[in-house]
Amino acid sequence: MQVISVTGPVDAAELGVVLPHEHVFADLVREYRGTGLLNDEHLACRELALLRESGGSTLVDLTLDEIGRDPAALRRVAEATGVTIIMGCGHYRDPYLNRDWFDRHAVDAIADEIVADIEEGVRGTGIRAGIIGEIGADKWYISAAEERSFRAAARAHVRTGLTISTHAARWPVGLEQLKLLAEEGVDPRRVIVGHADTVPIPEYHLALARQGSYVSFDSIGTGTPYDLGRAVDYVMTMVRAGFGAQVLLSHDVFLRGHLRADGGCGYSYVITDFLPRLEGAGLDPEQTRGFVTTNPRAALTGESLG
Ligand SMILES: [Zn+2]
Repeated sequence: MQVISVTGPVDAAELGVVLPHEHVFADLVREYRGTGLLNDEHLACRELALLRESGGSTLVDLTLDEIGRDPAALRRVAEATGVTIIMGCGHYRDPYLNRDWFDRHAVDAIADEIVADIEEGVRGTGIRAGIIGEIGADKWYISAAEERSFRAAARAHVRTGLTISTHAARWPVGLEQLKLLAEEGVDPRRVIVGHADTVPIPEYHLALARQGSYVSFDSIGTGTPYDLGRAVDYVMTMVRAGFGAQVLLSHDVFLRGHLRADGGCGYSYVITDFLPRLEGAGLDPEQTRGFVTTNPRAALTGESLG
């Protein structure tokens, strides 16, 4: 089974240690001012080299056009560092969405563009997306434009078979996202609900897992020590309930302050610090390794569904 990376198709068995929710480049200046801009290729290469040194090999970059997706830069960085980069497609969240454009385009036309990114490549570059996402809902409800974005993502999934990754931060909107996607024929087992660790409700994580979706704890190391302790608890709750195979871990690096050069956790913290913490909480190393190898691989390919 193959996965599409920015440097071409990769055998899923070769993905190694995978970070399923990151950003190498991003422009969130409107929300975060100067720290919200990742645009330095030299710095990106340095940070990804640190990931390689700590044993990481694949990163999923979920930056979409609304926040500065740059396929050619991603490919240059992948070639320079040897990190396999899987690029996203689709649309981000309000208020980043171009409401006027969404008003003027039918859901199927929006889906056509997503499918073109997957099958032909983005804007004539020939660089193809390998995952749909992060498809966003900004608040505790799905806005009108976001609903069209989700429906288009779902239809692109039905046509291409690519996994859908979502942005569901702070509020338990992931359940609503799964329901909407299911209306369009998407099996929840092909969906990764993102930012679950920013929703401090373990019962929500379990409800997502019971639906069959992957539960992404993807702010590991980018928050406070308190958040880290809670993330350990969330993972342990999932494992005890029998949902260990649906746990995904990542950092969601999107600010300058998240980079190692700026004193942040960088792209290696999950591997170097968080997995050992989970072992300290009682998990065996084989199981924690599965969180960053077999789990994300299955999430990307749907291979566990046969
Ligand atoms: Zn997000």
